[in-house]
Amino acid sequence: MTGQNTARLEVRGLKRNFGGLDVVSDVSLSLQAGQVTGLLGPSGCGKSTTLRIIAGVDQQTEGEVWIDGQMVAGPGVFVPPEKRHIGLMFQDFALFPHLSVGENVAFGLTGTRTEKRQRVHTLLEKVGLGSFIDKYPHELSGGEQQRVALARALAPKPSIMLMDEPFSGLDNRLRDGIRDEALSILKEEGAAVLLVTHEPEEAMRMADEIALMRAGQIVQRGAPYNIYNAPVDLQAAAFFSDVN
Ligand code: ADP
Ligand code: MG
Repeated sequence: MTGQNTARLEVRGLKRNFGGLDVVSDVSLSLQAGQVTGLLGPSGCGKSTTLRIIAGVDQQTEGEVWIDGQMVAGPGVFVPPEKRHIGLMFQDFALFPHLSVGENVAFGLTGTRTEKRQRVHTLLEKVGLGSFIDKYPHELSGGEQQRVALARALAPKPSIMLMDEPFSGLDNRLRDGIRDEALSILKEEGAAVLLVTHEPEEAMRMADEIALMRAGQIVQRGAPYNIYNAPVDLQAAAFFSDVN
C-alpha cells in the first residue's frame, strides 16, 4: 500500500511528439496526498497533453507515469484509464444529461446499493446540493453543474484528482466561491490534486505548489509566493504581472 513518503503521482521525463514536434519535451512532477499542485502556463504550452497522458487517454513518446508506486505508463506498460484511480474534472466534461444528479454521482461507484446511496448523499451534502439529488443537469446552473461534476469525480475516492481549467467556463462572480468551496472539499477528501490552469491568479489561490510550464517544459517549481516574488526570468515575471 501507499507509504507515508510514497508520492501519489510521479511523472518522470515525459515527452510527447506530434508530427515531429515535441509539445511536451521534459516534464517531471511529484504529487503528495492532500496537496494541490498547480500546473500553470500559457495556452499551448502542453498542459492538457501532460494531463491526458497521466489520465491514460493519450500516450507519451518517452517517460513514465507512476500512481501509488505502480507504473501505469512507461516502456511496454499501459494501464487503462479506468484502472488508474483517478478523478477527472474538465471545463467541458459534461454531466450525463439523461441521468439525474444522484445517478451522475453514483456512476463510477461500486459496492452495495446502501453504500452507494450513502456516498452520493455525503458528496452532494459537501457540495451544498443535498436537495438536488433527483434533479436533472439541465435544471442546474453552470456553477451547480460543476459542483456535481466535482462530487462525481470524488465519489470513488480517487488517489489523484486531475482538473483541467475546471472553472474557466464560469462567471467571474461565481468563480471565487466555487474555487474556495472546491478547495476545502478536495483537502477533506485528501486526494493529490493536479490543477491545470493558464491563470496565475487561480494557481496562486488554490495551489500549495506551482509548476510553471512553458513550451513543453517545467521552468520553475515552488510555493506560489516564492514563484510570484522571485520569478525565474523576465518572461515568468511578465506572466505573473497581471495578478493583483
Ligand atoms: P495547453 O493545454 O497548455 O493549452 P495543449 O497540451 O492542449 O496545451 O497543446 C499543446 C500543443 O500541442 C498545441 O500546440 C497543440 O496544438 C498541440 N496538440 C495537442 N494535441 C494535439 C494532437 N492530438 N495532434 C497534434 N497537435 C496537438
Ligand atoms: Mg489546455
